[in-house]
Order: sequence, then C-alpha cells, then structure tokens
Amino acid sequence: MAFPPYTEEHELFRESVHAFAEREIAPHAEDWDRAQGFPRELFRKAGTQGYLGVRFDPAWGGSGLDYWYTGILIEELMRGRNVGVVVGLMVQCEIATGVIHAFGSEELKRAWLMPAIKGECVAALGITEPGAGSNVAGLKTTARRDGDHYVVDGSKIFITNGTIADFITLAVRTGEPGPRGVSILIVPTDTPGFSVGRKLRKVMAHSSDTAELFFENCRVPARNLVGEEGQGFYAIMSLFQGERLVLSYITNSFMREILGATLEYAGEREVFGSRIADLPVWRHRLADVMTELEASRLLAWYATDLMCRGDPQAEVYVSMAKLFAGELFKRLAPECDQLFGGYGCMEEYFVARATGGISGFAIGAGTSEIMREIIARRQIGK
Ligand SMILES: Cc1cc2nc3c(=O)[nH]c(=O)nc-3n(C[C@H](O)[C@H](O)[C@H](O)COP(=O)(O)OP(=O)(O)OC[C@H]3O[C@@H](n4cnc5c(N)ncnc54)[C@H](O)[C@@H]3O)c2cc1C
Repeated sequence: MAFPPYTEEHELFRESVHAFAEREIAPHAEDWDRAQGFPRELFRKAGTQGYLGVRFDPAWGGSGLDYWYTGILIEELMRGRNVGVVVGLMVQCEIATGVIHAFGSEELKRAWLMPAIKGECVAALGITEPGAGSNVAGLKTTARRDGDHYVVDGSKIFITNGTIADFITLAVRTGEPGPRGVSILIVPTDTPGFSVGRKLRKVMAHSSDTAELFFENCRVPARNLVGEEGQGFYAIMSLFQGERLVLSYITNSFMREILGATLEYAGEREVFGSRIADLPVWRHRLADVMTELEASRLLAWYATDLMCRGDPQAEVYVSMAKLFAGELFKRLAPECDQLFGGYGCMEEYFVARATGGISGFAIGAGTSEIMREIIARRQIGK
C-alpha cells in the first residue's frame, strides 16, 4: 500500500491549495514579513475556498475530512514561503476553533464557529500568561460567576491573531488552583474591559500577529462557557495532539521550502569556478539534512495515520513528530543559511528571514568552510 495513502481527491485538494498559495501568498510574502502582518482579507479568501473548516462537521460549514487533508493544506499553503501566514490561518482553523467544534454548544457553534469557518471573523486562542506557559494548570486569569455572566480579570501573552481577533477562546480560572479549576470561555473582543497591549515584534514567523491581551472586569455571558465548568484543562489537553501535529507539519513544510531555496541557490552560485552544488563538502551536508527532513516527514505521516485511526499510541508519535521536527529545524536552518554566505543575512532573501540570518558570525572575515580549508591545508597537507 502506498504511504501516505493519498487518493485522487487528496491530490485534487493539494492542487487547489497549491494554486491558492502561489496566487494569494507568494507574491506578497516578503512585503508581509516586512509589515509584520498580512491583510484580514486573506482569512475571507481562505474561508471561501473551504480551507478553514477542513476537519469540521459539514453541519457547521466544514468539510468533514481528516488530518491527512489538514496536513496537505499546511504543506501547500507553505508553498507561498511565508510561515507567519500559515501560523495565522492554522490558529484560525484548528487551534482556536477546534475546542468549540469538539465541546461547544450549538449556540456557540452558530455564533462563532460558523463565521470563523467562512473567514468572516478572526479567532485567537488565549492560554499562555506571563507567569504560566508550559504549566497551563498554573494560569491565573480569573472568571468569577456573577448572575448570568462571568467577570474576567487577568492577562495573556504571545497570543497569535491577538490584535486582529474578533473573539478569544480563553482559558480562565473558575475554581480551585490546579487543573480542575480551569474553564474555557468565548470572549468577544468588543467586550468592555478587553484591551490589546503591545503587538509583539518577533524575530521569526514575522507576519503572524502576536500580542499581549488584558481583561479588566470583562462581563461575558455565562452561555459563552465552552463545555462544562472545570473541564477546560482536560479539553485543552485532549486537543493538544492535533495542535502539535499541525506544528510538526508547519515545521517540516517550512524546512522543505528553506531547503528548496537553498538547493536553487547552490545550483546557481559559483565559488572558485564551480557551483556550490558541485562541492563535495556541501553535497554531503545537504544530503544529511535532506535525509533527516525525510525522516521527520515520515514520522509526521505515521503520527497522522495513528491519529486518523484513533490509535492510543498517537499521543506518543505526535509528540515524537513535533519533537523531531522542532529539533531538526535547529540543525537544518543554520546549515542552509550558511550556504548563502553574506546573502544569508540579508532580509530580502527568504532563507535569511526564515532563519534569522543565524550564520552571520560564521561568514564575515572568512567563512567557516574557508577556515576549515586553511586549517586542513596547513595541518594535513594538500
Ligand atoms: C510564535 C509564538 C506564538 C504563540 N502563540 C500562542 C497562542 O496563540 N496562544 C497561546 O496561548 N500561546 C501561544 N504561544 C505561547 C507558547 O505556547 C508558550 O511560549 C509555550 O507554551 C512555553 O511557555 P513559556 O514561553 O512561558 O515558557 P516556560 O514555560 O517558561 O518555559 C521556559 C523553559 O523552561 C522549560 N521547562 C518548563 N517546564 C519544564 C519542566 N517541567 N521540565 C523541564 N523544562 C521545563 C521549557 O521547556 C523552556 O525551555 C506562542 C508562542 C510563540 C513563540
């Protein structure tokens, strides 16, 4: 059996997303990175194409498909070579809305999920706080019940789509300390007492919108509670697998584009009379990262297969896929950036923006490769 088990339908979907990325993202990729944002209009365009509800129930406007399609969506959106756009769109269609789809009331689905799937409104997920990141159960933003409302006080940080969101899927403390006191509320951003603090400038995923958010005496209708009070932590944890799988696809597809751009450059650039792509040192280094990237993609595909089958081992393999891809990026990005020499520090180059020009100090005043040549010639001989 072929693996991944793609059918003709998968390939048609891939072609459609590929064309969308080339038409709607690629021509603007550099400008949007510089502007540290992309137009809201892109959510609507993606929604019109049916890309914002791939896995969701058709009853709410979704397509009722599985994670293989989510994976293809990410792989092809990344052809536009702008990771921030992909992050913003995936927060909208998986990360901030998945919990409403899985646990929300019909009323919440009608009010927030359906317009989000159409791209008519923008969603964000608010979990992380200045004092609680990895330790989600330690979050301190409170929601106190007052009649038929909750009153929310606190703050969140690093929230993707934060300055542009129409609603926040917000993790709040409604009860005792620890995981059993956490709930999820939908907070419309026009609620009095809600404010956006700084739009945070990042050194990666430049065009995704990232913000700190404040909640001061925000009165939110109690019917905006997602699922049961005190079940929020468990709801978040149950959906983290999908979020982590999404992240592994984003990382792998981003690396595929970085490597692709690097191979293009290696085939064009001449040094000492030969193409970089013909130098044995670089051929071996590129072969190494190519092999590792393929291993990373296979691991993500295997994790997808387990997710789609509902296999209990999925949690382990999704975590492995996320771990492997994230750690590989830390090896692949500097390798690729190094091959660009000084251009690997210049903002106009996709690989420089993608890697933060991490190789700068291994380039100036003689590159690491030239240093190795000098050392080898002097210490080992011709
Ligand atoms: C670009 C970007 C977008 C984001 N978007 C969102 C968003 O939309 N919504 C949202 O809610 N959050 C978002 N986040 C926040 C992200 O989820 C947190 O940054 C992450 O969970 C880590 O939390 P932290 O930054 O507080 O780090 P910390 O939890 O303070 O961790 C700091 C270090 O301590 C280590 N550490 C922590 N606990 C342990 C332990 N038990 N054992 C060993 N080491 C440990 C960590 O691994 C890390 O190396 C985003 C972050 C980024 C960078």
